[in-house]
Amino acid sequence: MSRILVTGGSGLVGKAIKYVIETEPEGSKFGKQPGETWIFASSSEGDLRDPVATDALFEKYKPTHVIHLAALVGGLFKNMKYKLTFLRDNTLINDNVLRSAYTHQTSKVVSCLSTCVFSDKVEYPLDENKVHLGPPHESNFGYAHAKRMVDEEFGCNFTSAIPTNVFGPYDNFDLEDSHVIPGLIHKCVLAKKNGTPFVVSGTGKPLRQFIYSRDLAKLFIWQLRHYDDVEPLILSVGEDEEVSIKQVADAIVKEVGFEGNYVFDTTRADGQFRKPASNKKLLSLVGDFQFTPFEQALHETVKWFLDNYDIART
Ligand code: NDP
Repeated sequence: MSRILVTGGSGLVGKAIKYVIETEPEGSKFGKQPGETWIFASSSEGDLRDPVATDALFEKYKPTHVIHLAALVGGLFKNMKYKLTFLRDNTLINDNVLRSAYTHQTSKVVSCLSTCVFSDKVEYPLDENKVHLGPPHESNFGYAHAKRMVDEEFGCNFTSAIPTNVFGPYDNFDLEDSHVIPGLIHKCVLAKKNGTPFVVSGTGKPLRQFIYSRDLAKLFIWQLRHYDDVEPLILSVGEDEEVSIKQVADAIVKEVGFEGNYVFDTTRADGQFRKPASNKKLLSLVGDFQFTPFEQALHETVKWFLDNYDIART
């Protein structure tokens, strides 16, 4: 019998794991297995910055396994604005969750890093051995330092995943504090509705690897069940799948059906130009895995946003 607690279960990635567990056939590769109980916790179940609340959550569910996603998360501009809050909140959350998992003898924890935590002074592509090489990029110093620490704990079966940029249903579509794809989708939908220009922050030139949240969810489920190594694992599409922000914006314009004026605001920051990550280790372990094509994933995300505008985080 396993009881799997997903912290951050109400967020973009948590909701995607819930979706996969509920929609894949029971007993299949990514579906629920006999004897498994999945618990998706949101912050309303307990503020994980608080050690007492964290312990109470572990006492209540007594998880045998944890996928630890809860974090203060935000895009480039939010990260630049609130570095100290990102450092403090995420350090507290990670310390409390890992400590409670340890004291409650949780047999396995998969925590979540991000390719944002790497230094921009490393040789590309990023791989699992470069997490601690050099200081993080100054745009997300606080978030990166707090995240890097989950790679340093306890010497038991606690490991971590390193996703690249994630997008999908249930993302945060806030106009300023979101990641690039949900922010641009929301802006483009508003521009279409109001007959105003669609303004993309930055030059459009930076390159990123994007992973669909439902693909990432499957990889998390696989990692929880089959990856028994404390070393982190990059969960990403291939290095040859980098897309420019302009390509992303073009695809959004097409998907939303926007026909107005579309411009780049080059006075806004671009962030790192590129930070390609290698998924070689993942592919050598997971075997055959079909990533959803970018356009299809974007189509499903835009559709979800339009269908759920009232409940989406905006
Ligand atoms: P979201 O912002 O969508 O969700 C964050 C989740 O964390 C929510 O469920 C939220 O709960 C919970 N949470 C936040 N603060 C607290 C707290 N103090 N106590 C308890 N729960 C809390 O994030 P994502 O799903 O995008 O991110 C999941 C993980 O993936 C994070 O660790 C993030 O760093 C990592 N990641 C994300 C990437 C991305 O592009 N989105 C890229 C790489 C890594 P509630 O909603 O109830 O407040």
